[in-house]
Amino acid sequence: MQDFLDAIEGGASGEDIAAIPIPESYRAAHVLRAEQDMWEGVESAEKDPRKSLHVGEVATPELAPDEVYLGVMASSINFNTVWTSIFEPVSTFGFLDRLGKESVWGKRHAQDYHVVGSDASAVVLRVGSAVRNWKPGDRVVVHCNHVDDQDPSAHDDSMLAANQRIWGFETNFGGLADLAVVKANQLMPKPEHLTWEEAAVNGLCASTSYRMLVGRHAAPMKQGDSVFVWGATGGIGAYAIQLVLNGGGIPVGVVSSPERVKLLEAMGCENVIDRAAEGYQFWSDEHTQDESEWRRLGKKVRGLIGEDPDIVFEHPGRSTFGASVFIAKRGGTVVTCAATSGYMLEYDNRHLWMKLKRIVSSHFANYQEAWDMNRLISRGAIQPVMSASYDLDHVGDATLLVHQNKAEGKLAVRCLAPAEGLGITNPEKRAAIGEDKITLFQRHARGEL
Ligand code: NAP
Repeated sequence: MQDFLDAIEGGASGEDIAAIPIPESYRAAHVLRAEQDMWEGVESAEKDPRKSLHVGEVATPELAPDEVYLGVMASSINFNTVWTSIFEPVSTFGFLDRLGKESVWGKRHAQDYHVVGSDASAVVLRVGSAVRNWKPGDRVVVHCNHVDDQDPSAHDDSMLAANQRIWGFETNFGGLADLAVVKANQLMPKPEHLTWEEAAVNGLCASTSYRMLVGRHAAPMKQGDSVFVWGATGGIGAYAIQLVLNGGGIPVGVVSSPERVKLLEAMGCENVIDRAAEGYQFWSDEHTQDESEWRRLGKKVRGLIGEDPDIVFEHPGRSTFGASVFIAKRGGTVVTCAATSGYMLEYDNRHLWMKLKRIVSSHFANYQEAWDMNRLISRGAIQPVMSASYDLDHVGDATLLVHQNKAEGKLAVRCLAPAEGLGITNPEKRAAIGEDKITLFQRHARGEL
């Protein structure tokens, strides 16, 4: 891949890039089928991704007609990287085997290694024979919605496609690698004013939050709506806060430390709750929830904004879901895309039906939603929330930090990019948007706020 990197850094033309041979193998972060039972009897919190995530050479797969080879400049850690590396709630090899049975091209994915990663900023190296809108040399970012567009179910809302998958989680050949294989309909133009690593962190989390709060399929927020956001400086939460502010809403952000309170305030969120300082105990034991704690949270929110929230942005799951349903406004919406702390949820249904609330599910985003979100980032309305970047050889360290809830925003991973800060092609735009705005999370991580 060094020839590709030299060509990209040297400003080679698309034709020159297309003339460089694709290597037979490439460096990739992967888990092994042979190790999928390695954590038997180990508590989730004790599972260390540094032991299960390997970085080494894997064979380059053949390219399908609707796909492209990418030279990955940077990628990012998502929570799905944590799930794959701790083999929870299931081993992802089951996903690959199912895809392997679907088609001739699908068969390539059922390997004894799983190359992970659902984000990338990259350069197109080669396009398949059916690819029309992209060419070698294009600088791109990737969204992770992997669908077979010859299936009718993929054409109203592609998230409803019968064979919808998350690239790099439910498919192989993901982004935490020097090379990746994606469908052409996963590509979007790279925001010109961002570095490779800043551009790599947005695809999965920002698009997820966009669908949850802005797209018409989940809980479309309107101007003036109040939105309660759990994990407000985390991956999806930090984009949710920005989308609420950008859309004329009133965010209430929850975090768990004074440092995160400071970061949230610096983002412009005036209504902040430190859940650790408040010491909420929604569960009095493993089986019993304490309604008085839900009430205490609801009172806190009313004290901050004078009303109950129109929308609750929910993802912690079991630990918070009862409280989320309780605090939503009469007629309000709880929108959920995850259950980090446990997926068997409990809430008091009386608070739901008597107050005509709704629970709405959401999952990633369709191409149009991801494209619209990328456009907001390209225009400088939404900023990347990258707090730090790691090189690919340290992908396990970065994944461990996310697993342990020790990182703010997003952690980027440099793949081909040899150093931080490269890849900006429109410095004037960057200056106009504001270096300080773009690098807020990085400055916070360096203790400069
Ligand atoms: P993240 O960067 O780790 O952030 C999650 C935040 O949630 C943390 O910063 C933490 O904030 C808060 N949190 C964690 N455990 C909590 C608990 N028990 N109670 C209250 N708050 C808690 O992760 P992320 O990238 O935002 O992802 C969050 C979840 O969404 C994950 O489960 C992920 O798999 C899922 N997800 C789903 C989709 C989808 O398409 N369906 C897409 C993206 C992510 P504080 O400690 O500061 O409060």
